[in-house]
Amino acid sequence: MSARALEPHQKELFGQPIGLYILFLTEMWERFSYYGMRALLVLYMTTQTIGDARGPGLGWTDKEALALYGWYTMLVYVMSIPGGMIADKLIGQKKAVLVGAIILCLGHGVLILTDIWAFYTGLGLVILGVGFLKPNISTMVGGLYKEGDIRRDKGFSIFYIGINLGSLLATMVVGGVVAKWGWHAGFGLAGIVMVLGLINYIAGQKYLKDVGNFIPNKDDENEVSYIELYSKLFKSPAQLLYAGVLLVASLIGWYFMDWGYGLLFLFLTAIASLLMMIYKDLNTQVFKDRFLVLLLSFIMVIIFWGAFEQAGGLMNLYTETNTNRDFFGLFTIPTVMFQSLNAGFIILFATLVAGIWAKRKLKGKEASSLFKMALGIIIMGFGFLFMVCAVIEFEKSGTSSMIWLVLAYLFHTIGELCISPVALSFITKLAPVKYASLMMGVYFAASGLGNKVAGIVGESASEFGELTIFAGIVIFTVIIGILFILILGPLKRLTHGAEESERVLKHEEAEGFELADN
Ligand code: GLN
Repeated sequence: MSARALEPHQKELFGQPIGLYILFLTEMWERFSYYGMRALLVLYMTTQTIGDARGPGLGWTDKEALALYGWYTMLVYVMSIPGGMIADKLIGQKKAVLVGAIILCLGHGVLILTDIWAFYTGLGLVILGVGFLKPNISTMVGGLYKEGDIRRDKGFSIFYIGINLGSLLATMVVGGVVAKWGWHAGFGLAGIVMVLGLINYIAGQKYLKDVGNFIPNKDDENEVSYIELYSKLFKSPAQLLYAGVLLVASLIGWYFMDWGYGLLFLFLTAIASLLMMIYKDLNTQVFKDRFLVLLLSFIMVIIFWGAFEQAGGLMNLYTETNTNRDFFGLFTIPTVMFQSLNAGFIILFATLVAGIWAKRKLKGKEASSLFKMALGIIIMGFGFLFMVCAVIEFEKSGTSSMIWLVLAYLFHTIGELCISPVALSFITKLAPVKYASLMMGVYFAASGLGNKVAGIVGESASEFGELTIFAGIVIFTVIIGILFILILGPLKRLTHGAEESERVLKHEEAEGFELADN
């Protein structure tokens, strides 16, 4: 029997579908542009309008800059919900990624201009572009594997390395570009790189033939539109009551806070109502339980990123103002470069951490995704102990050593490796297929809310002091992680063995699928 010639999208490289590497590279360039720009943002906003070699900044206070930074980094991910919905119901993930990449090129392009309108427009477009691209490219990675394919977790670890390679390159290069040519050259570089991402994605389409396509479910009688789900809300007294309570709470929140929070609360009420209706509409208890466990795991996600994301805000400012960045008297390390530590550590340790789990799996002692996520919170939380040391040293001697930052970022990274790629893979295992992108969107929105929490916590440092904030984070995260480990048994039961049957799939078995059908 002669072997059939494989089509491009069926070919493998190092045991993984070639499509994975196309998505890896696209996401690498996208993350380069995102993290390159993000590393500059707070510094650009707080730089004075005159007298800085890098060109005029916006001259804002730390508090103002951190507030905008919190909103921006939240919205970037919250927009993943509409991005995911549009992909699920209208265009499929593949086109959504394309649309997102084009919008991102425009957004980063606009940021080259120095006017303030260009600043806000550019940020707006980046928010929209990431919303389209980020959840959908991640769901596409899951779509490369069939249910039960043991290569999925590893695929996500590889993809995660791509994310961080982009971030590492950006944070290493952008600081130097800005020092030499000014802020807007840094923003411009992000734009050029995004164009590379777009070209790479378009050129790699033949390897992605079976993934991320839109499948209209017109003949599926179980298919319900989001509008229908909302209209069903009015026929479900219990859900209507919960939605009503949330609505009132949102309006009260709006009254006491500003309109930004008001809109956010209303948006969250709308999403929570939709999720309740999806839950009610799912047709088996297995789907319902898995849906519930996903939502519960998102609580961990919010807490994790709420602490972790001090990196771009408070820790970034701390590095700039309180850390001795002198490199053996030779030169001063630019603050932006410290943002590379996280990405560098990911690249160094991603395979190691994935390897530890894989070894345990072979011994039949595989830890569940939920356990890894809880452990990730605890490890990351411990990282803040080193920031506590940094503050104590600063209070004693007026400066603090870089080593504390290095150790903090090391622990943060190991924690991130336990939670983030694991969660991405977990979602593609547990989410009902017709809501795959939406659930990925909700995951990113949860991380976006975490970013906002991080902003609020970071801002409050000007009131409570850095020591209280860093120590508070250690205590809170460790307690939450332990609590989740304590309720692991019941949570795992709700997954109905979604992770217990993973095995090596033969090529023929892995053919002809669209998404991980659960
Ligand atoms: N470092 C991850 C990325 O850029 C984190 C994303 C997130 O979930 N907030 O993809």
